[in-house]
Order: sequence, then C-alpha cells, then structure tokens
Amino acid sequence: MKLPATMNAMVFEEAKKPLVFKNIPLPRVLSNQVLIKIIACGVCRTDLHIVDGELTQPKLPLIPGHEIIGEIVIAGSNVTTLQKGDMVGVPWLGYTCGKCKYCLRGQENLCEYAGFTGYTIDGGYAEYTVANEPYCFLLSAMYSNPSGAPLLCAGLIGYRSYNRIPKQAINIGIYGFGAAASILIQVAIFQGKKIFAFTRDGDKDAQQFALQLGATWASGSTEKPPEKLDAAIIFAPVGSLIPKALRDVDKGGIVVCGGIHMSDIPSFSYDILWEERSICSVANLTRKDGDEFLAIAPQVPVTTKIKTYKLSEANEALSDLRNGNIQGAAVLVMD
Ligand SMILES: [Zn+2]
Ligand SMILES: [Zn+2]
Repeated sequence: MKLPATMNAMVFEEAKKPLVFKNIPLPRVLSNQVLIKIIACGVCRTDLHIVDGELTQPKLPLIPGHEIIGEIVIAGSNVTTLQKGDMVGVPWLGYTCGKCKYCLRGQENLCEYAGFTGYTIDGGYAEYTVANEPYCFLLSAMYSNPSGAPLLCAGLIGYRSYNRIPKQAINIGIYGFGAAASILIQVAIFQGKKIFAFTRDGDKDAQQFALQLGATWASGSTEKPPEKLDAAIIFAPVGSLIPKALRDVDKGGIVVCGGIHMSDIPSFSYDILWEERSICSVANLTRKDGDEFLAIAPQVPVTTKIKTYKLSEANEALSDLRNGNIQGAAVLVMD
C-alpha cells in the first residue's frame, strides 16, 4: 500500500474554539517510532478539559485524542517489538524519561518529563499518527476495532483508580457513570464486588445503564446509598462529590478521584474524614497498568457501548460529551 502524502486531522488551535478540520502532511517517523493508520480514536473527558482551556499546557497547534486504535504501517529502524501490520493501542502516556526519581521508583505516571498523547504529543483525531514504540500496546483481535478505543483511557484510568482500593473492599460506589464507570463495573463485578452507581440527579437513562451492567443500586449523586461503602471512585469532575462520598464511605474507607480536573472542593468538617477515611487522586497511567488491564479485559470479557462519529464530527462528539448526551463512550471512526 502506498501511503498518501497528507492526512485529514481535527486540529486544536485555541481554547474554547471549535477544532479545525485540516489536511496536513503525514507526520515523520523517527527510528524508535511507528506510523499508525488510525482505525478509531475515543473522545475522552480530558479532551474536553483541553478544548475548554481547563488544562493549560497543550502543545499548539495540537491534534487531540489519546484512545487510539490502529494498524502499524511503518516501523522505524530501531523498533524491535512491533512490526508492520500489528494492531496497537496508543494511550495517554506517550513518553517517559526513565531517569527521574519517579521513573526510577516505578511511578512513571508521575515522570517529570512525561509526554502525553493528544496533549503534549499529537494524538488520534487524525487519519495517521506516530507513537513511541514502548508506549504502544499490542491489541488482541477482540479489541482491534472501534469498540476497543475506550479501553485505552476510560478503561485504563478506571482500572488504576480501582487498584487504589484495598482488595478486601466489597461495596464500591462509583460517582459519575460515563465511559470509565461502564468499563470498570464489569471488571469489579467479575471480581465479586458490589457496585453502587451515582449519576447526575434524575438521569434515569444512566441509572438504567448501570443496573443493566450489574450495579446493585443506582441513583442520583445526592442520594444516600442503602449500605455503607468500603470505597468510592469519583469520575465526575465535580468537587462537591468528595465530601458527599466521604459521608457515604465506612470507617477506614477510601475516596479515589479518577479525573484530571475537578471543580473546587467545598470545605467540610473533619468528622467525615475522621476514622481513617482517606482521599486520593490518580494521575495518568503506567505501562504496567495497561498490561494488567488489557490482560484482564478479555477474561471478563469487557464490552463497551460506543456512539460513533466521523473524524470531521469531532466537535459534535465533544459537545455531546459536555452535555451528557452519550451513554458509554464517544468514538471517532476514520473512513
Ligand atoms: Zn521520568
Ligand atoms: Zn482520557
């Protein structure tokens, strides 16, 4: 197959402005990189935080998108573990230095010099992209299609959040029932957990979706769950959910914040944190998270519910996500 000289891409140029559909040259492939013909790219809430200017350090201009599924069409001369024809997934973590104190102690997700796909490195809202070899995941046939895209971030970050919870926790509350929750619930139930799903108040469709996926209980986020929770994971970017979740968790419980951005947290009295409750956040992912999650997913097996859009409809996908009009995950599918 002869590669074209140019590709279509949706380009971010300025915060709070729509992405611009452009035809631009194919990216150059360095020796440690692969060129990927993109099949699909998921649309994540983080993309919305970038486009809305809440994440303030993007490269400019930028091709967003960090849930990339595609086929390798060129492997650079120093690439050893991947080859032309391989189906790969490209996640948010696109580069780490391997030398800073975080990398050296196994916390590459916190690397001082990390590169992030679709934020500081061009991502997947395009027909082609390049990626650094060590940060691509080989995909099973089951996920080498658009339905696999949400696994690359919603799946991975959800899994990393879930991993912060002690293994003995049974009752788990999930606040915000979007793409990450809809994937995580399947893994958690597979491992014997009981899920209590909290949605926007009155969002009966999301509550129904959670119940269909096996939630024990689903209701609005201001409601009190019928049982004390051992742990809570907050995916909604809503700071007021932290004190709410603290009230819902039992002694010794943990509240894990899975998002990259959240509105301010209102002050709260110490007694809801007392008795060894804790709050933590999850930042980015490690390659180990990806390897573990992508090994578990086919065993469950995790399935995704996606709403597909053309590449040129990326702005529409983002606004549907902003308005809560998507059940499951939005995915751009290339022609
Ligand atoms: Zn580092
Ligand atoms: Zn994401």
